[in-house]
Amino acid sequence: ALTIGIVGLPNVGKSTMFNALTKNNVLAANYPFATIEPNVGVVPLPDDRLARLAEIHGSDKILPATVSFVDIAGIVRGASEGEGLGNKFLANIREADAICQVVRAFEDGDVVHVDGKVSPESDIETIHTELVLADLQTLEKAVARLEKEARIKKESKPLLDNALAAQKVLEEGSTLYAGGPAAGVDLDQARGLGLLTTKPFIYVFNLDEDQLTDDALKTSLAALVEPADAVFLNAKLEMDLMDMSPEDAQEMLEGFGATESGLDQLARTGFHTLGLQTYLTAGPKESRAWTIGRGWTAPQAAGVIHTDFQRGFIKAEIVSFTDLDAAGSMAAAKSVGKVRMEGKDYVMQDGDVVEFRFNV
Ligand code: GDP
Repeated sequence: ALTIGIVGLPNVGKSTMFNALTKNNVLAANYPFATIEPNVGVVPLPDDRLARLAEIHGSDKILPATVSFVDIAGIVRGASEGEGLGNKFLANIREADAICQVVRAFEDGDVVHVDGKVSPESDIETIHTELVLADLQTLEKAVARLEKEARIKKESKPLLDNALAAQKVLEEGSTLYAGGPAAGVDLDQARGLGLLTTKPFIYVFNLDEDQLTDDALKTSLAALVEPADAVFLNAKLEMDLMDMSPEDAQEMLEGFGATESGLDQLARTGFHTLGLQTYLTAGPKESRAWTIGRGWTAPQAAGVIHTDFQRGFIKAEIVSFTDLDAAGSMAAAKSVGKVRMEGKDYVMQDGDVVEFRFNV
């Protein structure tokens, strides 16, 4: 499943946001066999289509796609010097698919800022610098090792060249995700070396309630991090929303000119940043959304349910959600010719409702 690591300077609202995330924990309710770590929050990707599917199929349960958030404590200015970043920090961040930095924009005289003043720009720069320095340290060791290896076996030469190209990008101050591809760095290979800045970044700006409706401010903050995605929320408000009925929460959000909570937006943004999408399955037991990459074929998608489904893939019976919704039942959708049989080369589309046929 998709995992996003949360980082940020102290006192920016990470714990507050994380507490809101874990209040919302869907894992315990829907996935009783999963063990859950205290620093992991699992949130559903909001998807109105599932309720409609469940209605059509009389499903007992709805299982949305999920996004896991991991609270990665331990990054401050100077973290990459001296002792370096802690092993726990590095292990957590290496497992994450994307890095989400919480940035403080709210002003509050009672909440001390580590650098003495609230400056989103300088907070972003601080974390950026620490991660770039951490990668340069990792590379220093990797390059020394690969230089030795390359003298003995020539297969190591491309690895060395890639590490050197990555080093150059980082020395120029760019992350590998942003600057690597253009400089010929193979990001997958760089990930294999444990380089942190190969991951995409998402920025969450923690705003005051009155800043939430300040479009000029939001535009200027988004411009700081372009082309990365930015989400705006008020961490305290997110906590309050979790304690409200859905109706009250909706009303509260409308008061801020929003249609969904900041955490819902964050889950959606995670999917966007990582180029993911969902397809749907439905039956009397459950209506469910499954996470796949954009451009995946039907057998690859089947493999998300079970590897046997991918191995034994024969074909997929597919109807688009829109067509099924309009028809009102599978039988009705079939009778108007909206249910298709697709083979192994079919590229999945968002909102496909699927039943796989496979050999076991
Ligand atoms: P962390 O160190 O990044 O985990 O920050 P915390 O979540 O512990 O928050 C630090 C302090 O800021 C706490 O006293 C929070 O109540 C407060 N805080 C968090 N978010 C907001 C916010 O959006 N507005 C205001 N005014 N205070 C906040």
